[in-house]
Amino acid sequence: MFDNSQADTRNPLLRLVGVDKTFAMGEVRVRAAHQVSLAIQPGELLVMLGPSGSGKTTILNLVGGLDTVTAGKLFFRDQEMSAWNPTRLTRYRRDSVGFIFQFYNLVPNLTALENVMVATELCRHPMDPVEALAKVELADRADHFPAQLSGGEQQRVSIARAIAKNPELLLCDEPTGALDFETGKRVLRLLIDLKQELGTTIVVITHNTAIAGVADRVVHLRSGEVTEVERNRQPIAPEEVVW
Ligand code: ADP
Ligand code: MG
Repeated sequence: MFDNSQADTRNPLLRLVGVDKTFAMGEVRVRAAHQVSLAIQPGELLVMLGPSGSGKTTILNLVGGLDTVTAGKLFFRDQEMSAWNPTRLTRYRRDSVGFIFQFYNLVPNLTALENVMVATELCRHPMDPVEALAKVELADRADHFPAQLSGGEQQRVSIARAIAKNPELLLCDEPTGALDFETGKRVLRLLIDLKQELGTTIVVITHNTAIAGVADRVVHLRSGEVTEVERNRQPIAPEEVVW
């Protein structure tokens, strides 16, 4: 079994130790994650790469506190997250994690600014929503509804919504999956700039091998298992990505 949980343990932000996730569907049991051991360092951009059905979303949901492990342990800094109660998990999701999804998940009847404000209302150290929109270069579109924005612009609003919480961790589920090539590259550029400016730890999951080049490290997944972890000595710029 590939075990990277001990490989680099200088105060990891997150650590998964022998994590299993099994879904029971009536008589059928689906093993979506099996013996996943991994440490995620603060400030790194980690890409989890694997084909459809390899367990990427499952692992992202576990790390984001949206779901709970079947077996194994999950740590956030030195705290055992897998032992937290639902209230503590809610606080973690609210204060520490920003989520970015393939299809943006904006509220259609709220403006761009209101979509960002909704996320900041409940959290502890929010950024000014106007400033968050400015960071994704959409300050001038604050009063527009999602339907009035292109796919790339909607994804930038969703990035503004995620970073406005000032989270330690950004979790991105196929963030470029619904975008054309050039727009996808702009979204990657934005994530990398934010990582550099704000020091946010970013996990991107994708089936698109082309994206792996921009990562600090790439975790390969197959059938719910980590098969390989590689470090990119020189991550390439998003502008150099070819897909
Ligand atoms: P990926 O994101 O890599 O496409 P997923 O993590 O979504 O993969 O799914 C991994 C496996 O777990 C798949 O076989 C999928 O059908 C199954 N699975 C995911 N979520 C559920 C669920 N809520 N109930 C049952 N099976 C699930
Ligand atoms: Mg998925």
